Amino acid sequence: MNNTADAIVIGGGIIGAATGYYLTEKGLTVYLIEKDYLTAGSTGRCIGGIRQQFSTELSIKIAMESAKKFATMKEELGQDVEFHRGGYLFLAHSEEKKKTYLQLIELQQRMGLDVRFVGVDDIQEIVPGINTEGLLGGAHCTSDGQANPFLIVHGYAKAIEKKGRVVTYKEVTKINVNADKVISVGTADGETYYAPIIINAAGPFIRNVSELVGLDIPIFPERHEALITEPMERFFDPMIVDYREDGCYFNQKIGKGSIIGCYTPIPNVPGLDAGASFEFAKEMGRRMARLIPKLSTTKIIRQWSGSYEMTPDGSPILDKTDIEGFWIVGGMCGHGFMLGPEIGWLAAEYVVEGKTPYDISEFALKRDFSRREVMK
Ligand SMILES: Cc1cc2nc3c(=O)[nH]c(=O)nc-3n(C[C@H](O)[C@H](O)[C@H](O)COP(=O)(O)OP(=O)(O)OC[C@H]3O[C@@H](n4cnc5c(N)ncnc54)[C@H](O)[C@@H]3O)c2cc1C
Repeated sequence: MNNTADAIVIGGGIIGAATGYYLTEKGLTVYLIEKDYLTAGSTGRCIGGIRQQFSTELSIKIAMESAKKFATMKEELGQDVEFHRGGYLFLAHSEEKKKTYLQLIELQQRMGLDVRFVGVDDIQEIVPGINTEGLLGGAHCTSDGQANPFLIVHGYAKAIEKKGRVVTYKEVTKINVNADKVISVGTADGETYYAPIIINAAGPFIRNVSELVGLDIPIFPERHEALITEPMERFFDPMIVDYREDGCYFNQKIGKGSIIGCYTPIPNVPGLDAGASFEFAKEMGRRMARLIPKLSTTKIIRQWSGSYEMTPDGSPILDKTDIEGFWIVGGMCGHGFMLGPEIGWLAAEYVVEGKTPYDISEFALKRDFSRREVMK
C-alpha cells in the first residue's frame, strides 16, 4: 500500500482530529496516526465543557470562534455532536473574585461576548436549590455550553478518511529527518508513513514525541480526576464553576441529566498516572453537595482521570519548529476540548498558508513563558 500523504498528524484527540480535518478541507491528504483508539487520551476523559470567558483578548477570540464552530458542526460533519448552549456560571464567594470577574466581564463584553454579572437572586433562579451562603454573585455567559467529545472526534475522523487515512493502534516511535527536514514516521510495528509535514498533536505526550527528533518542548502532563453521577432529571443548565481553594466545577449532561465534574487539585499532580482515587470521589461529593445540598444523596456511578497538558504560562503552543515540516500543536492546559476546533483551523491555515488570519504570536514556541492566564 502506498504510505505517502501530504501531512501526517500524530494524535487522535480533539487537536489532532480538528487539525487533520481542516487540512483535509484545504485539499491535503492527511494520515491521522493514533497509538491507541481515537479519544484514548485526554479528549475521551474530559467533561465536555465549552466556555468563552477567558482573560486575554486572544483566548477570548479563539474561544468565541471555537463556539461558533461547535454550533455549526452538526451540519458540517453530518452528525449530531450534542452541542448545547447551557452557559457557564462562575461563582464569586469573595470580594476579590467578584472584582476579578467584573474586570474580565468588561473586556469580554468589549469583545462582543454575552456575559454579565448576576446577583444572588438571579443565581437562585439559574440553579434552583443552590447554597447561597457567602455568595456575592457570579459571571454568567449563556452562550457557553457543552458537547460530546467522542462524537466530534469521530466526525472529524470520518471527514479525514474521505481523502486520507485514520490509522489507529499504531504508536509513532520514530520520526525520520534528512537535512533538517522531516520525511517520514515509523510506527512500533515496523511500518513507515511518508509526508513532508508532520504535526505533533500528541497532547500530554507531545514532549515524548518531540524527543524523537531531539527537541525539548515545554509541555508537561498533570493529572486531573473526574466523575459522573447516576442519571437524574435536569434542574440546572450551566457549568457551575466554584474557584475557591476547595471548589469544583460540574454541569448536567443533556439527555440523561447525569452530573459530570472535576476539581483542580492543590498542589497539582504532575505525571501521566491515569489512576482514580477514593479521596477524589469523597471530596468531590462533599464539594458538590456543599454547593447544591440535595446532591448529598446522589450516587456516583463512575470516576476516572486524565491529563491536562500544561505549558509554563498557561497558553498553548502552535508553531513550526527548527526542523522543517515539524509542527507542534498542543499544550492546551485543560482547555483543549473547547478551543480545539479553532486551534485546528488555525493550525491548518498556518501550515498551508504560512500565516494565520490573525496574530497568534502568544502561542509561539520561542516565547517568554513567564506570563500567566488568570481565568484558568
Ligand atoms: C478530567 C478532565 C476534564 C477536562 N475537562 C475539559 C473541559 O470540560 N473542556 C475542555 O476544553 N477541556 C477539558 N479538559 C482538557 C482536554 O481534555 C484536553 O485539553 C484536550 O483533550 C487535549 O486534546 P489533545 O488532542 O491535545 O490531546 P489528547 O486527547 O490526549 O490526544 C493526544 C493523542 O495522542 C496519542 N499519542 C500519544 N503519543 C503517541 C504516539 N507516539 N503515536 C501515536 N499517537 C500518540 C494519545 O494516545 C492521544 O490519544 C479536561 C481534561 C481532563 C483530564
